[in-house]
Amino acid sequence: MSEISFKNLIQVKESLDTCFKCSFCKGNCPVSEQIFWETLSPRGKMLILRGLLREQGDLTKRVIDSLYTCTLCGNCDNTCIAGISVTDVLAAGRRDLYELGKAPESVKSLIKTLKASGNVFDLSKEDLDIFGLNPDKEFPKSADLLFFKGCYANYHSIPHKSTMRSFNILKKLNVDFTILRDEECCGSPAYLLGDMDTTRRFCEYNVSKIEETGACRVVTACPGCYRVLKQVYPKLVGKLNFEVLHITELLAEYIDAGRLVFKKNGIDKLNVLYHDPCELGRHCGIYEAPRKIIESIPGVNLEEFDKNRDEAKCCGGGGGLTISNPNLANQIAQTRLQEAEEKNKAVVTACPACQLNFSASKDKYNLKVKILDIYQLIDHANDLR
Ligand code: SF4
Ligand code: SF4
Repeated sequence: MSEISFKNLIQVKESLDTCFKCSFCKGNCPVSEQIFWETLSPRGKMLILRGLLREQGDLTKRVIDSLYTCTLCGNCDNTCIAGISVTDVLAAGRRDLYELGKAPESVKSLIKTLKASGNVFDLSKEDLDIFGLNPDKEFPKSADLLFFKGCYANYHSIPHKSTMRSFNILKKLNVDFTILRDEECCGSPAYLLGDMDTTRRFCEYNVSKIEETGACRVVTACPGCYRVLKQVYPKLVGKLNFEVLHITELLAEYIDAGRLVFKKNGIDKLNVLYHDPCELGRHCGIYEAPRKIIESIPGVNLEEFDKNRDEAKCCGGGGGLTISNPNLANQIAQTRLQEAEEKNKAVVTACPACQLNFSASKDKYNLKVKILDIYQLIDHANDLR
């Protein structure tokens, strides 16, 4: 394999050369916590990629599995003492593998689905009204605020319910907003799996559709959509004509303005731990807005996981791990849930991927812990002013 083939890895060569091989990055890696193979650790991944660039290794199945056995959670970025963005290196490696046609079959198959149907669930656009939502009847054609729903909310019943709860909150607050009639995937799965061409295609499509509505603010409840819209789209198409917000930021804004007040609620006394989704927390720096919302709900007592905010453990559902190694994804979730179960607290999150992976793990390992999305809590606190 000639060096010229790795055109993305060459761009992060300095990071690869800087690595001290010290292993500090393993300290908070959810994969290394479950599997002790060095090739699956962040340091192992760095050494494998450096070897590939220096023509000291072959693209074997073990190399490919190593790169895709990762949630791209970013904990290694946080703990690397050399200040290397390990996830930038891993993303470059995935791009090269994908472009060389060497990504795992499960990855290629998901991308094929995405390209053909425009969503991760392989449903058709006609299925967008699968839950009986009628955009033409319920939303104006244009508005200052647009709610970008994302594949999970469009096609999966659990995140769909969460999004409907967000809609209800906005409606109760008399917020004028619209949605896209023909929304496609935001491109986050393609981005995480290494397919930049498909990411760009979705970006260009969604940006042009959003612009048609005249929205100056776009809000989403999915941290994956949020990160891609906020951080990746501007790199692909330049400065956006609209601001991108996560719904927790918007609701925290309303709390600050005195517009959203929870007066009383159906919650007597509920102790919760807030789980920071990697895409929202570590990758986008949103830690306080969800906490502000939870703390403002009477009857809810917010406590913290041992590892929280920028040190938060991953739920296991990121980086495409649920596609490449679903068992490992569930195992990682179990570790997180176990802590909450031992502390006898409910887990609250603000991410559909976390919610689904936690729920799958809870069922698989027969755990008792309560898993709530933040909008469910708000829904229980149903008396808004
Ligand atoms: S991104 Fe997360 S799972 Fe992947 S190597 Fe780094 S710490 Fe481990
Ligand atoms: S902590 Fe940083 S320098 Fe040390 S092995 Fe990991 S990536 Fe390399």
